[in-house]
Amino acid sequence: MYRWWRISLRPLSPFLVAGRRITPNYYETLDYIPGRILKGAVARAILESYGGTPEDGSAAATWVGPELDESLCRPEWRNWVRSFSEILFSDATPFGAGRPPSTLLVCKNDPSHPPVDDLPDRFRWRVGGERPDDGRVPENRDRSCPVCRGRLERWKEGWRFPDGHERAGHSAHVQKRVFTRVELDDWRQTHRDGHLFSLAAGIPEAAVEGKAEPLIFQGWIRAPEDADLQLPKGMRLRVGAYVGVGLGLMEVEVRPEGSGERRGWTDRGDWVDATGDRSSIPVVLQGDCLYAAGCGTERITSVAEDRAAYAAWWKQRPSAIPAPDSLTVLFAAVQYESRYPFVAGQPGVRSMRPLWYWLGGSLFVFAVSDPSEAPVLVQWVEALCRDGVRSDVEVPGARFWDRGEFEETSGGTERAWTPVRIWSSR
Ligand SMILES: [Zn+2]
Repeated sequence: MYRWWRISLRPLSPFLVAGRRITPNYYETLDYIPGRILKGAVARAILESYGGTPEDGSAAATWVGPELDESLCRPEWRNWVRSFSEILFSDATPFGAGRPPSTLLVCKNDPSHPPVDDLPDRFRWRVGGERPDDGRVPENRDRSCPVCRGRLERWKEGWRFPDGHERAGHSAHVQKRVFTRVELDDWRQTHRDGHLFSLAAGIPEAAVEGKAEPLIFQGWIRAPEDADLQLPKGMRLRVGAYVGVGLGLMEVEVRPEGSGERRGWTDRGDWVDATGDRSSIPVVLQGDCLYAAGCGTERITSVAEDRAAYAAWWKQRPSAIPAPDSLTVLFAAVQYESRYPFVAGQPGVRSMRPLWYWLGGSLFVFAVSDPSEAPVLVQWVEALCRDGVRSDVEVPGARFWDRGEFEETSGGTERAWTPVRIWSSR
């Protein structure tokens, strides 16, 4: 069985996480730490503290696996090394806040007014065939703020504190500063073309409702029940890129998850109240979820095909309770992003094909076409909320990706793990 832990990271220096190239010489940090980068940071810390040296004849370790001699690791990492391949990391977000569901609308005049989630309306119209009161489809209807009657718009940016949090409904924004670097040509004493670049790095500060606060990233870890992942106080990790010049230094704390921290995740009450529907269950991803590796397709797919593909994907996930055979996705609101990451454990090797992620906040409304499977659906969703969803995708690799030239090489398996919960109207 598994146990969940909470990991907190307090940045002590600016950071550049998964530097995104906006233009050829401008990079910008992400405002959260994807699970794969967090796991990479822990692996690096373990390997750097590993006692084997070339002088004593042992090869430098580049991969944390069962071949490492745990007695050569620093004591605080020994429990981690023992079960490292089974330890799963979620994304770590500012203060543990989430990306809201893509159906969430906020007031244009004052984003602190209570938001409106139009999922129940859209669901009733799309799936229930119900005509909206004013005859217009929910997506195109003018919705107004319950407080000031101002216009509503989709939640665009920032992280939203979840229900149950002491600052529920508030939002947090990571602050960034731009650093510009110029490289001089030694001969002409001018800057060389292409050698001027800027980094928008995150700084250890976030704006919460307009006030500056020390930034903390929080995520979940799932590990085998007998692994004790607690770390000594004051431990530091280096996270992201340019760690050699001091970026990404963070103080890390890992503690067992508190008993009430996922209270309400399996509660269907809000959905039944909002839609009157007891046969379907809406599930929201609490972080990014690896969907597939692929080139995309020119073929235009229909909504029905997409929903069938999503249902097939969910049925293939490993789960303590097997998914119902007649599982269907009645409605989905997903946001995608594609990335070409370095392949885990293979230095210098990038993924040949883009990895497609569903972003946190994406949601799926599940049902079964065979009514006798209704109880299995409930049990399966409860198991998902208890264990999270795991995705392992084969990734083809390529070396020397720069300058348009590359060599195909062996890839690896990319793994992602994503906590999920049942949708809540709050
Ligand atoms: Zn308003």
